[in-house]
Amino acid sequence: MKLYILDASGLINGFYSKDSLNLMTSSTVNEIKDINTEMLLNNLINDGILRIEDVDYSEDEQINNVLLSSGDLMRLSATDKDIIALALTHKRLGDDVTTVTDDYSMQNALKLLKLKFKSVRTKGIQETIQWKKLCKGCRKEYPSDTTLEECDICGSPIIRKRMNARSNH
Ligand SMILES: [Zn+2]
Repeated sequence: MKLYILDASGLINGFYSKDSLNLMTSSTVNEIKDINTEMLLNNLINDGILRIEDVDYSEDEQINNVLLSSGDLMRLSATDKDIIALALTHKRLGDDVTTVTDDYSMQNALKLLKLKFKSVRTKGIQETIQWKKLCKGCRKEYPSDTTLEECDICGSPIIRKRMNARSNH
């Protein structure tokens, strides 16, 4: 089963999978303080897109060995350890697990443990917003850096319009 485990930065930066189940530990949920992300989180839970899941790894020798041997080295927080334990548990169950995080130390830890991860923020930066200027009346297009405020053809105001670089219209 394909699974995504989101850390706080992952969800704050807007990532969740629409096709696969998203998981979050309760310690991660406790780190989310901003109201917009909280609302998104509640909606995703209500829609069954995201599930809060914790694993009790206190008795799990294998996971504890991994965390002990790498935890100090990689300066993992308690929340990071919970996320890694969840990822290790699902990987062991045969799931295809990707952890979504924009935290560099977390990404390094996952890389060292040979766990898949995905970053969100870089993708957000690459998504460019384009603007164009056009006449509100006759729709004549002007260069985006024009200083004209009124159309030189019909005299209507020139407005700035946001173009989605990814859309076709
Ligand atoms: Zn015009």
